[in-house]
Amino acid sequence: LWDLKAKIAQEPLWRTLGAADRFVPGYASGLDYALTDDELVAFHERWARRGFTGAKVKGGLDVDRDVRRLAAVRDVFRVNSDRPALMYDVNESWGRHQAVRLARQVEERVELTWIEEPVRRWDVAGHRAVATGIRAAVATGENLTGLEHFRPLLAADAVGVVQTGAVWGITHFLRVSTLALGHGVPVSPVGYNANPVAHAAAAVPNHLVTEVQDLSFPVGLRVDQEIADGGIVLGDAPGLGIEVDEERIVARAASGGWSLPSGPHVRPADAGLRLAPQAR
Ligand SMILES: [Mg+2]
Repeated sequence: LWDLKAKIAQEPLWRTLGAADRFVPGYASGLDYALTDDELVAFHERWARRGFTGAKVKGGLDVDRDVRRLAAVRDVFRVNSDRPALMYDVNESWGRHQAVRLARQVEERVELTWIEEPVRRWDVAGHRAVATGIRAAVATGENLTGLEHFRPLLAADAVGVVQTGAVWGITHFLRVSTLALGHGVPVSPVGYNANPVAHAAAAVPNHLVTEVQDLSFPVGLRVDQEIADGGIVLGDAPGLGIEVDEERIVARAASGGWSLPSGPHVRPADAGLRLAPQAR
C-alpha cells in the first residue's frame, strides 16, 4: 500500500515519507562466522571499496578469535576512516553471568561502537547490566516484534541502539522509530538487502545506520538503488522502485536450506549455558 500510495503521487516513496535526502547511511555486514580470517578481510575489502566506514562482526564463542577478527576488519576500513565503527554481534550466545565480563575483555582490546544481543532478547535486567557495565552501546531488538516488546527495554534504559528487522514493513519501522525517538534513542534496521524499509529509514529523524548485507540485489528483483558512498542511494522511480521478475524467481526455486528447521538460524540448546565460551 505504501508502494501504491507513492506511485499514485508519482514520486519515490522516500519523498512521500518526507525524506529530505535519498541517502541512507549503512554499515557492512554478512553471515560471516564461517569465513576464515583471510576470507573475512577479502569480504570487507569489497565494502571498503564502496566507501563504507564501519562493519559488524559476529562472534561470542571465542573471544580471542573475535578480537583478532574485529581488529582485522577495523584495519580494512582505515582506508576510509581513521576511526572505523566496529559492531560486535554475539546473537544471544552469552548468559547474563558472563556478558559484562566478556564484553569488557573485547573492548579493552578493540574499540566497539556497540555490542549486539549480548543476552536473550527479552532479558531487560541483563541488557541493563551490560549497558551500565561496559563503554560501548548495547544494541538489540531485531528479534522483537510489537511495541510492547520494546517498551520494557526502553523504560529501563537498557538499550542504546534500537534495532528492527528490515523485513517487518514500513509501518512497523515508523512505529518503532517513533517510540525510540521518544526515549532519545536512535534506530537501526538489520538484515537489509533491497527491501522497502530504506525509504522509511531515510525519512525518520533518529535513523543511525542500516545494516547492509549484500552488494548485489536478490535474484528476481530489479531495484532502483545503488550501494555506494558507504550506504544506500535511493533512486527516483515512483513507489519502492522494486520490480519483481516472477518468471526468474520460479526458475530458481531452490531455497538453499533457509526454510529448513535445522538451520541456519537455530539457537544451540546450550547457548548462554556454557561455563566458558569456546569454539567447537
Ligand atoms: Mg544481529
